[in-house]
Amino acid sequence: PDTVRLLSSSQVITSVVNVVKELMENSLDAGASSMTLDIENYGLDRIEVRDNGHGIKAEDTRVMAVTHFTSKICSHEDLERLETYGFRGEALGSICAVAEVSVITKTEEDDISTQYTLDFTGEIVSQKPSHLGQGTTVSVLKLFKNLPVRRQYYSSTKKCKEELKKMQDLLMAYAIIKPDLRLTLIHNKVVVWQKAKVADHRSALLATLGASAVANLLPCHHHQEQPEIVLDGFFPKPGADYSSTSSSNPDKTFIFVNNRPVHQKDVTKLLRQHYTAQYRDDPARNRYPTAMLKITVPPSSVDVNLTPDKTQVLLHNKEALLTALEVFLVSLYGYRPN
Ligand code: ADP
Ligand code: MG
Repeated sequence: PDTVRLLSSSQVITSVVNVVKELMENSLDAGASSMTLDIENYGLDRIEVRDNGHGIKAEDTRVMAVTHFTSKICSHEDLERLETYGFRGEALGSICAVAEVSVITKTEEDDISTQYTLDFTGEIVSQKPSHLGQGTTVSVLKLFKNLPVRRQYYSSTKKCKEELKKMQDLLMAYAIIKPDLRLTLIHNKVVVWQKAKVADHRSALLATLGASAVANLLPCHHHQEQPEIVLDGFFPKPGADYSSTSSSNPDKTFIFVNNRPVHQKDVTKLLRQHYTAQYRDDPARNRYPTAMLKITVPPSSVDVNLTPDKTQVLLHNKEALLTALEVFLVSLYGYRPN
């Protein structure tokens, strides 16, 4: 059974950034307004996520890391109106199988916080009083310690840097979609990035990407019924000079489906196509725009279970979405692909 557990967990928790994403999403699901990601050695030695969310009730702590325990959905129908990032009850238990995990948590009702040490199977092996305020801190030590090949794979300098970059991109995505969230990234005890609570998406973009990137962004809104699709976002103004902020990677094109940061290649491609069409004579400008696109559709028309990390989603009305986006981009950039 240990081998089975390790194998299935290693398929859920595939990378360093994967752990970070799961922990951060748990914090957001707990209603945190402040979250700190504190890592050591690119997360390989320690990943710690601290939040000021609602904490974990004492009666739930015993099962919190039991595979398929979730406090977020009760019935199959809940899946159809999903508003939390997590729902499978898989992450915490899976992380326990590939690292050393402890959880410190305190709810509003608790007088003091408690630190729980979990074992390989997600069972609590010890607990003791702790001194933290309301919220939850999850510490993950020695990630992939029992998967030596994977640990080594993520230990190369190149891979470490890639994963750190992905963590930063992920933090930026949450910073943009959750303006009122306070975020801090600490690496090897140094604060490498920080974002205060701000009022709206534009301020969040400003805080995340800087003034030069945001100066040329235009807010856009498009609402369509049948099928219902709402597009909100910030796109580069047509004709503006933003060669300095657009990039050869799609990493500054932030796309969200129902507030979930996702990779949607065809959407990114469409944005790039319309954006760069203005510069047809200048191939050097064939770049990805700095942009934010927030797609809102009825929860029942999204399937987020395509990949374990939920960064790719299936949309029931994908064609309708691409058509709506295209109409909108044509009106913005005036480019009509034939
Ligand atoms: P899921 O997010 O799919 O429910 P997880 O394995 O990620 O599953 O977490 C299991 C449970 O542990 C959650 O349903 C929640 O009750 C609790 N939990 C985990 N992290 C936190 C947190 N930061 N704050 C509050 N509760 C948490
Ligand atoms: Mg979760």
